[in-house]
Amino acid sequence: MTTNATAPKTLGKVRPHQTQNEALVFEKSSPGKRAYKMPPLDVPAVDAAALLGDAHRKTPGLLPELSEIEIIRHFTRLSTWNYAIDLGMYPLGSCTMKYNPRVNEAVARIEGLAEAHPYRPDSLAQGILDVIDLLQRCLIEITGMDAITLQPAAGAHGEFTGILLVRAWHESQGNARRKILIPDSAHGTNPATAAICGYTVENLKSNSEGGIDLEALTRQVDEETAALMLTNPSTIGVFESQIHKIADILHAKGALLYMDGANMNALVGKARPGDFGVDVMHLNLHKTFSTPHGGGGPGSGPVACKAFLEPFLPTPVLCKTGNREQGTGNRDQGTGNRQGLGTEGPGTAGQLHWIYDRPQSVGRVRAFYGNTGMFIRALAYILANGPDGLRQTTEDAVLNANYIRAKLEDLYELPYKTASMHEVVFSDKRQAAKGVKTGDIAKRLIDYGFHPYTVSFPMIVHGALMIEPTESESLEELDLFIEAMRAIAREVDETPDLVKTAPHSTRVSRLDEVQAARKPILRWRPTE
Ligand SMILES: *Cc1c(COP(=O)(O)O)cnc(C)c1O
Repeated sequence: MTTNATAPKTLGKVRPHQTQNEALVFEKSSPGKRAYKMPPLDVPAVDAAALLGDAHRKTPGLLPELSEIEIIRHFTRLSTWNYAIDLGMYPLGSCTMKYNPRVNEAVARIEGLAEAHPYRPDSLAQGILDVIDLLQRCLIEITGMDAITLQPAAGAHGEFTGILLVRAWHESQGNARRKILIPDSAHGTNPATAAICGYTVENLKSNSEGGIDLEALTRQVDEETAALMLTNPSTIGVFESQIHKIADILHAKGALLYMDGANMNALVGKARPGDFGVDVMHLNLHKTFSTPHGGGGPGSGPVACKAFLEPFLPTPVLCKTGNREQGTGNRDQGTGNRQGLGTEGPGTAGQLHWIYDRPQSVGRVRAFYGNTGMFIRALAYILANGPDGLRQTTEDAVLNANYIRAKLEDLYELPYKTASMHEVVFSDKRQAAKGVKTGDIAKRLIDYGFHPYTVSFPMIVHGALMIEPTESESLEELDLFIEAMRAIAREVDETPDLVKTAPHSTRVSRLDEVQAARKPILRWRPTE
């Protein structure tokens, strides 16, 4: 078999480091090399061409040919180029890159859970349904809401689902309404969600503390306002202290309050959105509840809502037979028509089962029931911590962010002086005066062994440095980070070019970001 014998064998990226001296897998290929050995054929050979007809390909695919150790080394070397939470601090603001406890992984790999087939009849899936039910009840308790769906696969997907509920409810009242209000301190996914759900986005200006201007809100809410989408704590890490009043202003005009709860890491165990007037919200299990993200795993963005929105939740919903009051957190809507492949009868008392007959539902938003593996991890995290542990987690996350704030605010400009929650946002104002931008400082941080913070976001802070340490970090690690940030501030004064040309310790230095965005080269092609 001939394949890419013409592939270049040049190793054009040689650097004096063994794991950085790595070619593409295609460049390493040699015709005929194999990583496996098959036993001799002991059945009659089949003529593939005769069997497949036109579907039989004439030229083999250009696949790399390598030995087993070459493959192992190749991927192991590549893996050492990645930065990961298991390697060091990941202070990426607005992302809550916390440690993913190993116990989560152990539980998620239990065979009966990991291999539960989604078409298994409910009667034979009571274990995994119990996990889903318990997680739902925990999240309802944590948020103070009445009902929940675990289907959405990410935060933005949760927003989409939540706003579909808002739209369906308004429609049931006779008018879907036209616009959604979004503060300028919102996460970028909020306006995108409103637009994709068919709403006009109206911008709401923040006041000097970074909160909602109540007078502006009162002026802007009208009978065409479907909802306000509020990120709380906001993207500048500030808790919206007037949230009760905001809810009242909206409700007086028949509008709803949507809370982007991706930042619940600052609230869990301390305050419940359901208690301060929120009608519907999403959570990010892959942030607050420690399931891996950022390339480490799929997300999960459950949507919790008040009882009046419950009939609109995506199908199916989980219910407990013969327990109409307190089924699974979600109110039981009766058994109705089930579409599962189950063969059991109407249900044994106390058994969990999915309900599909929900005439007002917005429909499915995800295949099956959501990213179940994430449910198991999130539940493991919640149960391992317990109520007191979760509260401690929140307090530590807020303490860590404020420790960094206190140790850096003499060197980096703090645009909003309001108390920080789980993250702190500086600006590069002082460094920019020397020609060094937030992006340069972030790249220099890589040389000190840290993942960059979030750069140039939120947009209301010019040249933002958004830092979220999470509760995972020890005092020692925080001090190392602070030392690095202080050292960089000194370099900006003394050797600004060193910062402007960073990073200096990585395999590739600065990329041409414009080229990378406009002309990405995403696949290898053989050169003739
Ligand atoms: C991360 C985040 C989102 C989006 O979540 P994804 O899971 O990335 O879709 C939305 N809002 C806020 C405030 C966030 O921090």
